[in-house]
Amino acid sequence: MHDWGPAEELLAHAVIGFAVERLQLGKDPRWGARSAAELERQLAGLVTERGAGGIEALRRFRDVLLPACRPLDHPLALAYVPGAPSVAATLFDLVVSSCSIFGGHWESGAGAIAAENQALRWLADLAGYPDTSAGVFVQGGSAANLSALVAARHRAATGRDRPPRWRMAVSDAAHASIDAAARVMDVDVLRVPVDDADRMTGPALRAALDSDRHGGEGVFAVVASAGTTNAGAIDDLAGLADVCAARGLWLHVDGAYGGAALCAPSVRHRLDGIERADSFGVDPHKWLFTPYDCAALLYRDPTAAVAAHAQHAAYLDGIDRHESNPSDLAFHLSRRARGLPLWFALATYGTDAFRDSVETTLATAWGLADELARRPAFELLVEPELSVVLFRRRGWSADDYGAWSTTRAREGVALVLPTGWRGEVALRVCVTNPRTELDDLVALLDDLERFPGAGAPAFS
Ligand SMILES: *Cc1c(COP(=O)(O)O)cnc(C)c1O
Repeated sequence: MHDWGPAEELLAHAVIGFAVERLQLGKDPRWGARSAAELERQLAGLVTERGAGGIEALRRFRDVLLPACRPLDHPLALAYVPGAPSVAATLFDLVVSSCSIFGGHWESGAGAIAAENQALRWLADLAGYPDTSAGVFVQGGSAANLSALVAARHRAATGRDRPPRWRMAVSDAAHASIDAAARVMDVDVLRVPVDDADRMTGPALRAALDSDRHGGEGVFAVVASAGTTNAGAIDDLAGLADVCAARGLWLHVDGAYGGAALCAPSVRHRLDGIERADSFGVDPHKWLFTPYDCAALLYRDPTAAVAAHAQHAAYLDGIDRHESNPSDLAFHLSRRARGLPLWFALATYGTDAFRDSVETTLATAWGLADELARRPAFELLVEPELSVVLFRRRGWSADDYGAWSTTRAREGVALVLPTGWRGEVALRVCVTNPRTELDDLVALLDDLERFPGAGAPAFS
């Protein structure tokens, strides 16, 4: 298993060759999930006492397993928050795997960590964070949110009695992972209502704290969204920062999706105030063209994070605690240096290329919004702040949306899923791929106008 011989040579060419070929081939948007029973049948005979051999396993992966995975980097994969990894970032992910780097501690991963820190510094500078800030790449936005909130509570718990219940203030539109973090941490959530455009404002937060029947007791953090998943709405970060500063609350900004907008001059001002957040997260695997999985978590002052997360034991005491140890900044110990593909792409293409690619996706999304506003068959539900466009096909029922969405996904035309907006069904398009063309989105609108739904005249 560890020696290198002719069989390994052959397997290496087959595997690397496949990866290079796969990168160049267009993705088939008809690919997607199959039943577990069918896939189990297709997997038969591979994992046995003697194995089936790498070439056969690779063949099965190429022909059966990969086509059972939906390619979210297809230009018309517009549901969820899709991703579109660059060529350089994807290639470098292969390199990271081949180097067997333990990225948890400086001692074992200094070179990789220094490069990751350079990529984190780019994000910190975009946000206006001081030189003393520090960050770490974790698996995803959910992990980033949880790790930041654990640090926040640790700071709040230091040097004072514990309240009966810890709580955090969260808007109605915050991502599901915040509720998940609250469950993991066994803390309660103080709900803050959003405005018409799904934003949490400073005054709304102040009102929620003031009218709280527990007088705000036990509240240790406020979680703001820089780009809600459903609508791309950006909370009033400066207003929230004022309230947090006045009340000694930790402000965490969840920018898993929208944090990428920090590098886009056309929308950067909408994130003003983020420099005052105690922590923020951005998922490069969403809108910064990096393969899964890669989420950046930054702390304005890492002291509380280190106090909350650093693991101590006799077998760990040898590490140099004065250096940058990513393990200390989140809930993990062993870690892949998963920020390296982003770093390599930044070094390959330059930061301007990231700016231009994000701006391209914004222009495409806003072009779609303009087109929707021109067409009487549609209702644009909210003026897009980022690259999420929410709209309604007038006269359609939930079944009509479902029928169109399922049909077009099955045909491989596009992946657009319905969502909810103010209690009604709506369509949601999220553009994170610079190769998504406005013309193709306009063609989807034509298709929506013609689609024979129950509420619309057929073949009109
Ligand atoms: C996607 C998303 C998350 C979760 O990120 P994962 O990387 O999927 O764990 C959290 N917050 C927001 C706003 C998101 O869009």
